[in-house]
Amino acid sequence: MLVSTAELLNGAREGGYAIGAFNVYNLEGASAVVAAAEAERSPAMLQILPTALKHGGPPLVALCLTAAREASVPMTVHLDHSASAEDIQTALDAGLTSVMADGSHLPFADNVAFTRQMADLVHEQGGAVEAELGRLTGTEDGLTVPEYEARLTNPGEAADFVAQTDIDALAVCIGNVHGRYPGEPDLDFERLDAIRNTVAVPLVLHGASGLPEAMVRRSIELGVAKFNVNTEVRAAYLEAVRKLVEGPDSPDLLDLMRGAVGAMEPVVSAKLQLFGSVGKA
Ligand SMILES: [Zn+2]
Repeated sequence: MLVSTAELLNGAREGGYAIGAFNVYNLEGASAVVAAAEAERSPAMLQILPTALKHGGPPLVALCLTAAREASVPMTVHLDHSASAEDIQTALDAGLTSVMADGSHLPFADNVAFTRQMADLVHEQGGAVEAELGRLTGTEDGLTVPEYEARLTNPGEAADFVAQTDIDALAVCIGNVHGRYPGEPDLDFERLDAIRNTVAVPLVLHGASGLPEAMVRRSIELGVAKFNVNTEVRAAYLEAVRKLVEGPDSPDLLDLMRGAVGAMEPVVSAKLQLFGSVGKA
C-alpha cells in the first residue's frame, strides 16, 4: 500500500528501527524491493535518481507508484538527490510526493534558499522533503583534516537549516560515503548525537552499502530513520545478468529479468533485516 513518507519515518523513529530506501531503475528493481519487503513483512521505500527519471520519465514514476500501491506492505516512492527545480516539478507532476531537494553543493545561504523553495512547493502537494547539509564525498584522500571536517554536518548549522527550510528529514554527513567504502567505515557518532540533540526531524544516512551491523544499530539509536541503499543492489543485478549472458545457455530476455529480480531480492531482504524493519509492516 502507498503511504506517506512522514508516516514511514515517524513509525520507524517511534519503533526504534529504520526504513530501507532502495534506488530502482526499472520494473525489475521495483519488483525485487516489493518482493523482499512483502516476504519480510517490512515497510520500504522505492527511490528514483534524477538520472533514472531522465531516462524513464513519468512511466517509471507510474510503475513505481503502482508497485507500491499494490504491495501488501506500506511503501513510498521518493525522488533521490535532486538539485534541479525542474526535475522536482516533473516528479510532482508525475505523482510523487516525496523528494530529496539537494542543495548540499551550494553555500549555506543558497542551500537554505533552494531547499526552502522546494519544501514549500512539495508541501503544497502534501508531500515530504529531505535535504542534506554537509558534503558527502568519497574519502578523506587529498583533503586536510580541517577540509574534511568542514564537509561534515555541523550540528549548530543543522538546527538553523531545519528551522529555516521547514524540511521533514535531514540527510547527514558524518563520514558516510556513496558507493563502496574505501576502507573500514568510520562514522562520527559524537557528531550524530549532537545533531540529533539539536534537530527534531528524522535523520537520513546515505551510503549504507557496506556498513557493519554495529554501526547501523548505533546510527538508529542516534536518530537515523532512513538508510539509502544503491550500490549493493545494483551490483547484484549486474552480476546476475553478466553470469547469465556469459553462461552456457543462451538466455531469453525474460530469463535475464527474472534472474536480476532473484539476485536483488536477497540483498534487499538482508538490508531490511539489518535495519530492524522486518515484521513491522
Ligand atoms: Zn545519497
